Order: sequence, then structure tokens, then C-alpha cells
Amino acid sequence: MELRSRSRYRGRYAPSPTGPLHRGNLRTALLSWLDARLAGGEWLLRLDDLDTPRNRAGAEDGILADLRWLELDWDGPVIRQSERRGLYASVLSALRRAGRLYPCRCSRRLLADISAPHGQPPVYPGHCRQRAPHWGFFQERLPSWRLRLAEGPLLWPERLGAPGRLDGTAEVGDVVLRRSDGFVAYHLATAVDELLFGITDVVRGDDLRWASGAQVAVMAELGATPPRYCHLPLWRDGEGRRLSKREGAEGVAGLRQQGLDGPAVIGLLAASLALVPDGSRISSAELLSELRRQPPQVAAAGRWPGLRP
Ligand code: GLU
Ligand code: ZN
Repeated sequence: MELRSRSRYRGRYAPSPTGPLHRGNLRTALLSWLDARLAGGEWLLRLDDLDTPRNRAGAEDGILADLRWLELDWDGPVIRQSERRGLYASVLSALRRAGRLYPCRCSRRLLADISAPHGQPPVYPGHCRQRAPHWGFFQERLPSWRLRLAEGPLLWPERLGAPGRLDGTAEVGDVVLRRSDGFVAYHLATAVDELLFGITDVVRGDDLRWASGAQVAVMAELGATPPRYCHLPLWRDGEGRRLSKREGAEGVAGLRQQGLDGPAVIGLLAASLALVPDGSRISSAELLSELRRQPPQVAAAGRWPGLRP
């Protein structure tokens, strides 16, 4: 695999087209865009659309329209993971030939019994690691393919909060890279794409901090080092609950219905980060030039004033 050089900042925003973006998603997009533009770098747009049953008709068009409306411009063509399936399949077969994967036939029921700390997927205890590897069709099912995780800690550069570190065996486990229904798993596709597009900086919500462990493990299997990560605290509602996809109703369409235009929405997002006073109207380009003139002291370290890790 030929890896792109990582000398120049290259970020990406990678929404899944499973529904409309809510203001939390939009704020992450804005920060990711600002971070890239302040660094004089590029910002790619990738649609994580591999899990086709979860994709919603019109969601992709909606996402593109919302980003355009907010004038968050991306570089190059839109990248769709669904158009890169052949590539992921080759990476999977290479890993399989190298003995880095094993087939897992554990039932959903058995897996459901494994308990997990709050907010994290359960760590697979490796039931099928030692079994004879039957890759084929058996008892009317195909196996899922799991990564044989190497011992030791998974480490990555983290710009917000403590350095990224998860214990491979205790906290991440042998993750599924190809599902038993044949779908390529998100961790595999994402790790491959960060590497092949030469992504230097991933700015995303901290609900994906755990996912970084799995993705860094895949990158290590491919002989590569991870990008820098900046996991942003999620925007929570008044009761401390995270915003759900249902808030999409109250997302851009809802904000528009309330009579807000692009600059009013950017003002709202920026005010939530204490970058501008409440009620400001500012376009994304104006916000960018303001921050260029007067960078928030903390921005260099990836710490925006309004965010508390
Ligand atoms: N597409 C996934 C999501 O929207 C992952 C995003 C990412 O890796 O930044 O949650
Ligand atoms: Zn298993």
C-alpha cells in the first residue's frame, strides 16, 4: 500500500449518511474545518456509507447541502466508502493470508452476554481464537473475521486531554473487520482511508475515542503510524444527555425554519465554544479570518476555550 506523505496538514470530516446532521455534528464539522484552514491545510469530505441498511435516502444530499449552506468548503471530490469496497477487500485478504485474522462464529446471543463498561462496546474474550479456522459456509452461516490483536498498549497522539492509550487485550479486544453478513467493518475502512488519503489530523467527537484504539491497531497491522487525533466533547442538552439523530429534525432544517441563516447558525455554534458572544452573526470565512488575526491562545494545542475535556 502506498501511503501519502504526511508533511502537510490534511483533515477530514466523515459523516455517515444515516440521517440529517444535528447541531452537535455541525459543530464538530466547523471545528474540524477551522482547524484545517487555520493550519493552511486541506479538508476532505468522506461519506461513511458502507453500512447500507442504515443509510437513509436523501441523507447524503442533505449533508452536502448543509455544509454548503454553512460555507464549509471541502477539497477535492466527495469520497464515498461504498465506492472503495474492492480496496478494502484486498486489504482484508492480505491480512487474512498473513494469518492476522481468524473466523468467529459466536452467536449474537453469546456476544450479548458479555458485559461492557458504560458507553463502550464489549471486549470480545477471544472464544474463537484457538478454534480450527473454518472460513466457509457452515450451519447456514458465514463467520465474521476478527483481528488477532497484538499484545501491548495502543497509543496515539491526542491533542485534547491525555495522550491516547488503550490496552489492546483488556480494553479493545479482537475487533471484527468483516461482518458475518459480508459488510466491511467501519474500523477497517476508516483506518485504511486515513492512511491512503494521508490524513494528518482527525477531529471528531469523543464518543469515538474508543474506536481510535481499534483503528490504530489496524494501522499498526498495516505497518503505519496513526494520525493525530482531537476528540471533542459532545454537545449535550440541558439535562446532560447527548444529542441524538432525532435532533436532526431540529438540525439545519429546523434552524432554518426558525428563520436562522448560515451566519446566524455559525454564530450559534461558535458562541457555544465561547469564540464569539451569544447572538453573533458571522460567516465561516469571517470567523476563520478573525481567528487567524487573533488565534485563541489555546487553539494551538487543540483546546478551544469552550471545550472541557
Ligand atoms: N462516520 C462515523 C460517524 O459519523 C465516524 C466518523 C469519524 O470517524 O470521524 O460517527
Ligand atoms: Zn467467536
